[in-house]
Amino acid sequence: MKWDEFSGWGRRIADWAQDYHLTVGDKPVRARTEPGEVLNALPATPPEGGEGMEAIFADFEEIVMPGITHWQHPRFFAYFTSNAAAPSVLAEFLTSAIAPQCMLWQTSPAATEMETRMMDWLRQALDLPKEFQGVIQDSASSATLAAVLTMREKALNWQGNQQGLFAQKPLRIYCSSEVHTSVDRAIWVAGIGQQNLVRVPIKGDWRGMDPAALRQAIEADIAAGMQPAGLILCVGGTGTGATDPVDECLQIAEDYGLYSHIDAAWAGSAMICPEYRHYWPGVERADSIVFNPHKWLGVQFDCSAHFLKNPDDLVQTLAISPEYLKTHGKDGIINYSEWSVPLGRRFRALKIWFLIRTYGLEGLRQRLRNHITWSEALHDKLAATPDFEIVTPPMWSLWTFRYAPKGASDLDELNLKLVNAINDDGRIYLTQTRVDGDLVIRFQAGQFETTQADVMMAHGVITEIAATL
Ligand SMILES: *Cc1c(COP(=O)(O)O)cnc(C)c1O
Repeated sequence: MKWDEFSGWGRRIADWAQDYHLTVGDKPVRARTEPGEVLNALPATPPEGGEGMEAIFADFEEIVMPGITHWQHPRFFAYFTSNAAAPSVLAEFLTSAIAPQCMLWQTSPAATEMETRMMDWLRQALDLPKEFQGVIQDSASSATLAAVLTMREKALNWQGNQQGLFAQKPLRIYCSSEVHTSVDRAIWVAGIGQQNLVRVPIKGDWRGMDPAALRQAIEADIAAGMQPAGLILCVGGTGTGATDPVDECLQIAEDYGLYSHIDAAWAGSAMICPEYRHYWPGVERADSIVFNPHKWLGVQFDCSAHFLKNPDDLVQTLAISPEYLKTHGKDGIINYSEWSVPLGRRFRALKIWFLIRTYGLEGLRQRLRNHITWSEALHDKLAATPDFEIVTPPMWSLWTFRYAPKGASDLDELNLKLVNAINDDGRIYLTQTRVDGDLVIRFQAGQFETTQADVMMAHGVITEIAATL
C-alpha cells in the first residue's frame, strides 16, 4: 500500500468505527465463538503475494468481529471496564501514525514533556500533594513490578541488581488477601518468592487489611530474622472492591521503614471526585500509587498512571546509565525509560490530553458519579427482590450478589449456571468471583456510554433468566 492510498481507507475505517460505537449496544456483549473457530478460519500459512485492502477488510469483518467480546458495549458489567472514549481513540490514531519512540527526552521531546504535564494534571485531579511526580506505565502490573523492585533495592541498600538475592535475608512484602494477582507475579519476577509475600487477614465491610495483624506479622518476621521490605495496599480490589485502611497501614509502614505502594488500578479514577477520597485517607503518605486511566476514566488502553513521592528511588532501581541520576529533573530533562522496566515507550500522554480537554474534569466526574448512582439503584432494587441476596455492599459502582431461592441445594452451582446463562443470553455481561469461599456474581457499571436505562435493564435480565433455571 502506498501512503497516498491511506486516507481513503482511513476515512472508511473512521466511518466504520463511529458506526461500531453507535450500534454496539445491539450486539450480544460476549463473543459467541467456540474455541478454535477463529484460528481455523485463518489460513495456516502466510501468503507469498500481497493482497488488496478490500479483501483484508472483508475478512476482518467476517472472521474477526464475530469473535470479539464487546468491551465498549454499554451493558458490559463484567470485570472492570476498559474504556475507549472517542477523543482518546482519535489520539491513538495520531500516535500510531507518528509512531514515535518515547524512551528518552531526546527521542521525543513533545511526548516526554506532555507526559510530565499530563501526569501533573492527573495528580491535581486526584488532589495528591505537589511532591508526587508521575510516569505513564503500560499497565498497573508494570507499575506494581517497578514498585516491588524498588522495595527490594531499597531494602538491600541498592545491591540487589548487582549481587542478586543469593545469601540475603528473606525480604518480606505485606499485602491483604484481596490484592490482584499482578502482586503475586511482581513478587515472583522480582525474585522475592511467593512464600515471602505475607497475606495479612482482612476485616470489616471494606474487606481491608487488619492493621493490628499487619504489625504482628512484621514483628514476627523481624523476630525470625527476616527483613520486612514493603507494603502493598489495595484500594478497590478486583473481586469486591476491597479497600485497606490506608492511613493506619501507612503509619505502620513508616514505623518500620517499609516502602509503600497503593494499587488503585480501578477505583483511582473515582478519586477525581472529592466525595470518594475518604476511601484513601492519608494517601499522601504513600511512596508509590498506581491507577489506570484506561479503566474507568475513559482513556483508550493502555495507560496506567504511576505516581511517586521520590522518583529517585525508582530511577536508582531501574536506570541503566547512572550519570542520568545526577541530572534528572534538575535540568528539565527526564528520560522516562529510566522510570519503567521496558525501554521502548509509546506516546500515551496524548490521549489523556485529548480526553481531559474534551470533557473537562467536571464532565468526567459527572460520568463516574452517574455510574455509581445507577449501580446503587440497581443494587437497591435487587436487594428488595425475593430470592436474591447482596453478598458485598457497593464499593463505588461494584457489588456482589447471589441467587438463593428457598430450598436450593448447591448455591455455587446454581449461581455459576445463572451467570453462564446470562452471558449466553447476551443482553448483559457479568462475571463471578468468590467471597469467603462462596461463588458470587459481580456487578459493576463503568462503561463510558452506559445509561441509566442500560444499568436498570440488568434487573429484568437477571430475574428473568434466574426464573428459567
Ligand atoms: C485491573 C487491575 C490490575 C491490573 O491492571 P493491568 O493494567 O491490566 O496490569 C491490578 N490491580 C487491580 C486492583 C485491578 O483492578
